[in-house]
Amino acid sequence: MDNKTLFKRAQKVIPGGVNSPVRAFKAVGGDPIYIKRAKGAYLYGEDGKKYLDFVGSWGPMLFGHAPDGLIRAISKKIKDGTSFGAPTKEETQLAEAICSFFPSIQKVRVTNSGTEAVMSAIRLARGYTGRPRIVKIDGGYHGHVDSLLIQAGSGATTFGVPDSEGIPSGISHLSLSIPYNDVTALENAFKSVGKEIAAFILEPVPGNMGTVLPSEGYLEAARAMTKKYGALLIFDEVMTGFRITEGGAQKYYGVKPDLTCLGKIVGGGMPLAAFGGRAEIMNFLAPLGPVYQAGTLAGNPAAVSAALWMLAEIKSKKPHSKLHERCAQFYAELHQLIHDKHLPVTLNHMGSMWTLFFTKGPVTDYASAKTSDTKAYARFFHQCLRGGVYLAPAQFETNFISAAHTTKQLSAALRVLKKSLQQNAK
Ligand SMILES: *Cc1c(COP(=O)(O)O)cnc(C)c1O
Repeated sequence: MDNKTLFKRAQKVIPGGVNSPVRAFKAVGGDPIYIKRAKGAYLYGEDGKKYLDFVGSWGPMLFGHAPDGLIRAISKKIKDGTSFGAPTKEETQLAEAICSFFPSIQKVRVTNSGTEAVMSAIRLARGYTGRPRIVKIDGGYHGHVDSLLIQAGSGATTFGVPDSEGIPSGISHLSLSIPYNDVTALENAFKSVGKEIAAFILEPVPGNMGTVLPSEGYLEAARAMTKKYGALLIFDEVMTGFRITEGGAQKYYGVKPDLTCLGKIVGGGMPLAAFGGRAEIMNFLAPLGPVYQAGTLAGNPAAVSAALWMLAEIKSKKPHSKLHERCAQFYAELHQLIHDKHLPVTLNHMGSMWTLFFTKGPVTDYASAKTSDTKAYARFFHQCLRGGVYLAPAQFETNFISAAHTTKQLSAALRVLKKSLQQNAK
């Protein structure tokens, strides 16, 4: 069935035809590809075509699509029921497993989505500190949480709507957005209203303005500044957790946040996310403490079985070093081409996360990311798609390489990417 027909029909009954905006291809034009199934590094479309996938459902697919063990684990568990609304022993096993990967986490609660995890972490930070304000970074995306849809990245960037309608100014005024990698801006924010700041939340390695790396000492400065003013440091590792290392960006950079948000990989593609931190802070949550947070389906057995499988697989297979070696070769070839042909393109990457920005760069924050030629990106994207390579359908997003992507598949993708880069980056 063709994508156009499917999309037309969807648009009659689903706003914009999609259940999450960036899926609609608005940033690159054209009709989204309808997916029938996926396996390993491939997506199989309703159009009968096969695509080498670099989106990985926007991050969860560390092991590629539908690994046999994951599917077996979910299928087995779901026969026992889909939700009980009462505790299971597997939820405890999952909490123990998460704590074992993240030394900064002593207690953890699971939610159904990254958005919920962040929303709850923010409320907890406010409840724990008794302060109202939140600091975030420009282009930092934390799901569609009211107080954080200010200068947000991802779909919000692409649509040029940094603020959403429907968020009362009384809420947005409590959030302060500052440029990433700018220690002076951070200092100034804390100097001006430091005693009112509950938390500084950031993606330690932003992925929602495209992949951007922290400059030397930035995360350490964030740690020191929050500590000095008695605010909490929240690392939103929904994308980077289990991705950059098995212990997230905080392990790689050796900076310990007070609270951590996790999602995407931890649920293996099932609706499961989490937030956690020191026991003393987490004990503020109901039923122990005064900060309310809940979820009818939170920790449902099927999602938990997927999470347990993902974490056990990460523990036993230790996929990161091999994966990152393959990725490094892939990036080296792109860097070489950009250099040799003097292309006005910047490749940012961290482990298996990468973005090609259509600008000379360097891209170190939201302002420099936005110098990208998004029309060139759109042409590049569509040429790759025609070549069977499925990239993020927007400039300000991160692409992912999974452990299921073979050297051979990566070489095939490189042929398509290189050709399209040369023809569209001008
Ligand atoms: C995807 C993402 C979220 C939101 O997670 P959802 O499951 O889409 O609600 C939050 N923070 C970051 C850093 C993300 O990448």
